[in-house]
Amino acid sequence: MRITAAVSRAAGAGFTLETVELDPPRADEILVRIAAGGLCHTDLAIRSAITPEHGPVVLGHEGAGVVEEVGGAVSGVRPGDRVILSYRSCRRCGRCLAGRPAYCEQSMRLNNSGRRADGSATMRQAGAPVAGSFFGQSSFATHALASTDNVVVVADEGADLATVAPLGCGFQTGAGAVLNVLRPDPDARFAVYGAGGVGLSALLAAKAAGAASTVVVEPVAVRRELADRLGATAVIDPTDGDVVAAVREATGGGPSHALDTTGVPAVVADAVRALAPTGTLVVVGLGAAELTLDLQDLMLNGKAVRGCIEGDAVPQRFIPELLDLHAAGRFPVQELITTYSFTDINRAVADQRAGRAVKPVLVW
Ligand SMILES: [Zn+2]
Ligand SMILES: [Zn+2]
Repeated sequence: MRITAAVSRAAGAGFTLETVELDPPRADEILVRIAAGGLCHTDLAIRSAITPEHGPVVLGHEGAGVVEEVGGAVSGVRPGDRVILSYRSCRRCGRCLAGRPAYCEQSMRLNNSGRRADGSATMRQAGAPVAGSFFGQSSFATHALASTDNVVVVADEGADLATVAPLGCGFQTGAGAVLNVLRPDPDARFAVYGAGGVGLSALLAAKAAGAASTVVVEPVAVRRELADRLGATAVIDPTDGDVVAAVREATGGGPSHALDTTGVPAVVADAVRALAPTGTLVVVGLGAAELTLDLQDLMLNGKAVRGCIEGDAVPQRFIPELLDLHAAGRFPVQELITTYSFTDINRAVADQRAGRAVKPVLVW
């Protein structure tokens, strides 16, 4: 079928809306009419690596929409279902069977190869393959082909698809790092570095978990103001003096639970330094490959540093939990999103880069 997709062709070039041919669903595939798609940093990081040899690429991995058609082997998802699309996993490898699909052995092939697992393309232009299947969706398009392993049915008829679309990646990443990995107790002193969509969804999750203090470190003033409005117990501008001392003071001796969303080695090193003894820092930011840490501080104070992808979440279990929290008013992610028409996708990118929008969501 002919669909419209936001196509990327080169690093630094804008998205262009173009007509693309999308395959009909195979037996194990689900055709979704996309209503909304969040813009995640990973889309832009991948776009920045596109060279002419890749040919046209369709990104987008926080899609939400309505199922139009399902293949004959699909069960549990029906035409008309409202769905959120998340990341793919094989459901067969040791890590998937151990309940850790974010670390699936087939993850790169299923999410980042631009093809189906068997190497076939899902999209074409003038007969030539287009790189699609990004996170098993490529949802910067009017329609996407997904699979049962990355489709989550939205049971709540009142849920606004534009608001909940980023649960598929960014909000799941922040909230999951807190609720699935850090698991703060009511005495917890929580700090998050970076107040983008991931950092602020982590803040909301820490508040929902009842953490005693919730500190947000963020250089952009409008984002600090938003964190303050969302109920952070303290907001810190890291450009304003000694950030380690400021975080320690705001948490009464250092965070017991902390999250870095920046991926900036100097920020991560400071976040480890600021931790309370026996505290844990989870890192979810994709940044420089190397990091220098104070080994003595880490060892003598029993501190832990741990990486995490997609909030360690099993989407079909965790996203419904977040939807319930959202419906109960305890996970108010509507405060984080700014909606744009898909025709304004390049403006959405510019606004996110400039700090004017925390989480842009594109709608058809
Ligand atoms: Zn697997
Ligand atoms: Zn993402």
